[in-house]
Amino acid sequence: MLARLGLVLSIAAITLGLCGCQQSEVISSSDRFTTVTYKEDAVSINLLAAQLGLRIDESNSSYIRLKNSANTVLIFTHIGGQFFVNGREIGPAGEVYELDGSIYVPEALVGQIRTAMRSGGTYRPSTPGRVSGTVVIDAGHGGKDPGAISVRGFYEKTVNLKVAKKTAAKLRQRGLNVVMTRQSDRFVELERRAEIANQHRADLFVSIHADSCLNRSVKGFSVYVARNAPYQSRVAAKAIAQRMSQISPDGKGIKKADFRVLVKTKMPAVLVEMGYISNHGEALLIASDSFQDEVAQAICDGICDVIERI
Ligand code: ZN
Repeated sequence: MLARLGLVLSIAAITLGLCGCQQSEVISSSDRFTTVTYKEDAVSINLLAAQLGLRIDESNSSYIRLKNSANTVLIFTHIGGQFFVNGREIGPAGEVYELDGSIYVPEALVGQIRTAMRSGGTYRPSTPGRVSGTVVIDAGHGGKDPGAISVRGFYEKTVNLKVAKKTAAKLRQRGLNVVMTRQSDRFVELERRAEIANQHRADLFVSIHADSCLNRSVKGFSVYVARNAPYQSRVAAKAIAQRMSQISPDGKGIKKADFRVLVKTKMPAVLVEMGYISNHGEALLIASDSFQDEVAQAICDGICDVIERI
C-alpha cells in the first residue's frame, strides 16, 4: 500500500513538473483520483456530458452527477467505483483521474451510458422525409486563410470543412440539391462564395464557421444573419439555432452582423458559428468526429425544417 502511494506521489510530481500546477492541489485530491498521465482512451467529463446531452449537476469528492430532463447519471470516482444511470447500476466506472483541472473517465463509458439512457435525453433527428430545394453549404476559410487557430492547435478551416461535408451528405440524403463553395483545403474569395450561390439560384445559403475569443471561458454556438436580413433568413436562423441548442446548451442564439457572404448573397443566408475553438473543452468537442456529426445533423435538420417554407 505504501509502495503504491509512493508511486502515485512520484507520478504526481512528474505531472506537476509538466503542467506547473500547485503541488497542494494534487496531494489533497490524491485520495479521490488516481494520478496518471493522459491516456488516449480517456475522455474529459465535460466532453462526455456534451456528447450525451447532459449537464454536470454536481461534482464533489466522491461522485459526479450529470443530468438532463430525462436522465440522471452518477459516476463514483474512487477506485473500483460504480456508475449508475437512472438509479440502475451499470458497472465499474474504471479509472477516473484528474489532469490540468479536468476529470477524465474511460471513453467506453460514453457508449455504455448512452445505451442505458432514456430516449428524449439525447438529440433526436427529425423524421427523415424528403424535401426539395437547393442549398449552398459554405465551409468558412480555406487554403492560405486558416481562420481562427484553436487553443488545441488545429485550424478553424479544417473543422469547418469536415462539418460542411457531413452536412452536405445529410442534406443530399434528404433529397436536397447541395452545392458546396469548396470541397477541399483551398482559398475561395468571399465574393466568389456569394457568386456561386447566386449563380445556382439557391434557396438558402449556409456558411459554417467556428468562433474564437481572447476570453477562453466563452463558449456556445451562434447563428448570424445580416443586419437587414429578410424575414426568411431569420426563419432559417431560428430553425438552425433551435436544433443547435439541443446539442449545445451554451448557445448564444441569433446575432446580427454584416458578414460579406450574408450581404452579397441574393437569397436567405445564415452563418453558423458552431462553438468556440478558443475554449479548451469546446475545442476538444468540435475536433471530435461524433460532435461534428451532431452539428451536421442539427444544421441539416434545421434547414429541412424550413427549406420548403422560405
Ligand atoms: Zn470563421
